Amino acid sequence: MSEIHYRSCNLCEAICGIEIKHADGVVLSIAGDKNDSFSRGHICPKALALKDIYEDLNRLKSPVKRIGDEWREISWEAAFDEIETRIKDVQTRFGRNAVAIFQGNPSVHNFGTLLNSGDLLKALKTQNNFSATSVDQLPHHFAAWTMFGHPLLMPIPDVDRTDYFLILGANPLASNGSLMTAPDIINRLENIKKRGGKIVLIDPRRTETARVASEHFFIKPSSDVFLLLAIVNTLFAENLINPEQLNDFTDGVETLREISNEFTPETAENLTGISAVEIRRIAIEFGAAKSAVCYGRMGVSVQKFGSLCHWLINSINILTGNFDRAGGAMFTAPAFDLLATAKSANIFNRWQSRVRKLPEFMGELPVAALSEEIATDGKGQIKVLMTSCGNPVLSTPNGGALEKALETLEFMVSIDIYINETTKYADIILPPATGLETSHYDVIFNLFAVRNQAKYSAPLFPKQENAKYDWEIFQELSHRLNGKDAPLNLVPPEVKLDFGLKFGRYQMSLEELRKNPHGVDLGELQPCLPERLLTEDKRINLAPALLVKDLERLKVEAKETDEFPFALIGRRHLRDNNSWLHNSEILVKGKNRCTILVNRMDAENLGFENGGVVKVTSRVGAVEIPCEISDKIMRGVVSIPHGYGHARQGVRLDVARNHAGVSLNDLTDERVIDELTGNAAFSNVRVRLELM
Ligand code: SF4
Repeated sequence: MSEIHYRSCNLCEAICGIEIKHADGVVLSIAGDKNDSFSRGHICPKALALKDIYEDLNRLKSPVKRIGDEWREISWEAAFDEIETRIKDVQTRFGRNAVAIFQGNPSVHNFGTLLNSGDLLKALKTQNNFSATSVDQLPHHFAAWTMFGHPLLMPIPDVDRTDYFLILGANPLASNGSLMTAPDIINRLENIKKRGGKIVLIDPRRTETARVASEHFFIKPSSDVFLLLAIVNTLFAENLINPEQLNDFTDGVETLREISNEFTPETAENLTGISAVEIRRIAIEFGAAKSAVCYGRMGVSVQKFGSLCHWLINSINILTGNFDRAGGAMFTAPAFDLLATAKSANIFNRWQSRVRKLPEFMGELPVAALSEEIATDGKGQIKVLMTSCGNPVLSTPNGGALEKALETLEFMVSIDIYINETTKYADIILPPATGLETSHYDVIFNLFAVRNQAKYSAPLFPKQENAKYDWEIFQELSHRLNGKDAPLNLVPPEVKLDFGLKFGRYQMSLEELRKNPHGVDLGELQPCLPERLLTEDKRINLAPALLVKDLERLKVEAKETDEFPFALIGRRHLRDNNSWLHNSEILVKGKNRCTILVNRMDAENLGFENGGVVKVTSRVGAVEIPCEISDKIMRGVVSIPHGYGHARQGVRLDVARNHAGVSLNDLTDERVIDELTGNAAFSNVRVRLELM
């Protein structure tokens, strides 16, 4: 007899409610949960992959050890013993920083990992701490920290109530909302227009989101900062500045006025490719709208001026009175609040990477420095790498250089369910129970959600005999590396969750959530300033010194050489989610998605044809990839999706191998970064194209 199980999908940030029909340990169907208080029945095709992942024959179930080219199953005890011995030995010989850790994107989608990996970091006591943050959203965090006092205190677009949505470099129809947890985003966006509002999209590609936008403008990659400064300039020129209720606790308005003086729409026209008339019109419409919100994501985050962009986006919302009010940018009030006890602190540049002196932020170094930190001899060189649910060979800039570096490590251990392009270099892989075998509460993405809600999902299936949860692995490793003699007392993440819920603002309990499998709606986002601010003086700083100083970089003319005349940007399809879902047949079948998009006129000039193979070369490498001629990409810009490149030897991803594609990060350049934070600048990698 079949049964129904309700849970949240934790594959992406949207945390959609799903309804799983199952019998005898087999998933029969996965559908959207119409009674889920937040997602209202919406799911995307990726949810179906939860069945594929659960049944995947390539998924590791026991620890494995690499002996030559062979992988042998070993016991957990033997695996932990060897990891403990090797890490302690290397730290004794070379110091604590000789061991590095990289945590990938799924770390934040698993509360077992999220609530326990910090203890492992403390046990390792290394400054060589890397994560996917610095190839994704570090500039968001940096702007939030400098302006509001904490990197996680990020304003979220109140998309359900706004009248004007200005989107830069984001594609919510493919991402389902990012740093804006918004399941069923398509209807949320359509509703803006139904209530007479407007969506304006700025992107070098006419993306899927352009389908629902009222207007789309191409913009030259990496020039968004000039557009944003010109909008600020116009807002001042047109007397559209009115922070309203924020006036009493906001500083720096006049500094912004002075800064923006020289950045007129006319200056921005050539730099961005958007006419001064249109820039001025957008700014005036934004400033005059009943409510409006400006939002930027990957396209403006992973570029040379990512931090400046996010500062200016926040500033535009604040200057126009569209901050901390309905329809603008607002802060959330989650039931389990990671910020409940947070305090203002200096978390920037307390140490630097050894080779290039890139700054630490939030206890992390930019991952653009990882390969050189392994490959460069000298005191402090990384000798051991631990990865947790990450695939930096495919997801970080110049993956080829990282591969070469990984070969030189003394020891590598990975917490992962697959032997992928990165973990194949590990000596030991520890696979946690995963997906349907685990419980879920979204500790992070409720902090970024467009509506306050809480939902707990129990495991659907028991973990396999002898398997371990992620939190068990982290607690065991932390315990051993801390050198504690007392026996380990394992504590499930539910204990911390229940505590946080009970002492949270809604005084809920885990028990209450267990009784509400469709989730508990906690209402619309509410004004909460200045109380929610975490700056020491409880004020908003519109002109943080670090960011104001960084404007100097805008004066340095970007060099565009004839050698590399095209700007390369990434892209993502609705069925993609970084690299790790490519082993799901249901998600990769059909037309090859790993193509290079080339503008029709550029293609004609170069003699390219649809489907023809193009050689793409950057400073760091070259790939050969089928050409897809399109009117949806700006002239002078080309696009390759990220997360592919599965043809490498030694990878055990049978499905992904049949849809291998090429890795965008065999072209991206670890030297091209947002120099303020060290975040990778994937947008506007310079390349040349040749017909093969
Ligand atoms: S949008 Fe994200 S959370 Fe929702 S079903 Fe798709 S992958 Fe899962």
